[in-house]
Amino acid sequence: MSTLEIRDLHVSIETEQGTKPILRGVDLTIRTGETHAVMGPNGSGKSTLAYTIAGHPRYQVDSGSITLDGEDVLAMSVDERARAGLFLAMQYPVEIPGVTVSNFLRTAKTAIDGQAPAIRGWVKDVRESMDNLRMDQAFAERNVNEGFSGGEKKRHEILQLELLKPRIAVLDETDSGLDVDALKIVSEGVNRAKSSSDLGVLLITHYTRILRYIRPDFVHVFVNGRVAEEGGAELADRLEDEGYDRYLTAAATA
Ligand code: ADP
Ligand code: MG
Ligand code: MG
Repeated sequence: MSTLEIRDLHVSIETEQGTKPILRGVDLTIRTGETHAVMGPNGSGKSTLAYTIAGHPRYQVDSGSITLDGEDVLAMSVDERARAGLFLAMQYPVEIPGVTVSNFLRTAKTAIDGQAPAIRGWVKDVRESMDNLRMDQAFAERNVNEGFSGGEKKRHEILQLELLKPRIAVLDETDSGLDVDALKIVSEGVNRAKSSSDLGVLLITHYTRILRYIRPDFVHVFVNGRVAEEGGAELADRLEDEGYDRYLTAAATA
């Protein structure tokens, strides 16, 4: 079992107008086997949390900690985080010109495991995962994210998730821009990854829609860089009916 612990995390960014605090004391604990949804209005700091876990240099940690099984994640390089078992799917994935999906996956797998995967099994695993995600095999020879549609980017992320077998996966708006069919395929991929290994999932989303397919054990409502409320799956159902207005009014008058 693994545990990702975020304690009293304060994060800011430098803008032309000066230092802007974004996260204002975030506490979250994610264990393998659990699925957590972080929900909240636009601009509440959800992606900032994901980028900070990923180690994006733009996001400056002012105080607090992130640990994985007691190890200081904030002291790790981006590569070390991946080797430690963290997987981050970004809201806006970057293009990697000249690197095919096939090469990218094999290189990532080799880096994370510390050795190249046995070729036969690997080729079979890639093919199976692509079939599961209804991806054409020709996709493997395209350059990473170059000209990918929104749906292709998301499937490519879930393909990585299935093949790299992390301990904790952070998925930032994996549902955005997907039609219902693609959403189901992507959600099934996440659920397969959950059932085939002991995976903890931090699912960041603005909408409750994806939570019909990936049931969260815990829901955290993010408002203004903090967790404003926590509960179980029933909290997501309530948000579906009520939206975020109640929290925004409370935050504005606080
Ligand atoms: P969410 O993912 O919940 O929509 P973000 O973490 O993307 O929220 O953004 C939180 C706040 O930080 C917003 O006010 C946003 O404008 C600001 N912010 C985030 N990243 C940057 C950036 N690179 N430059 C300027 N402002 C940023
Ligand atoms: Mg499981
Ligand atoms: Mg975001």
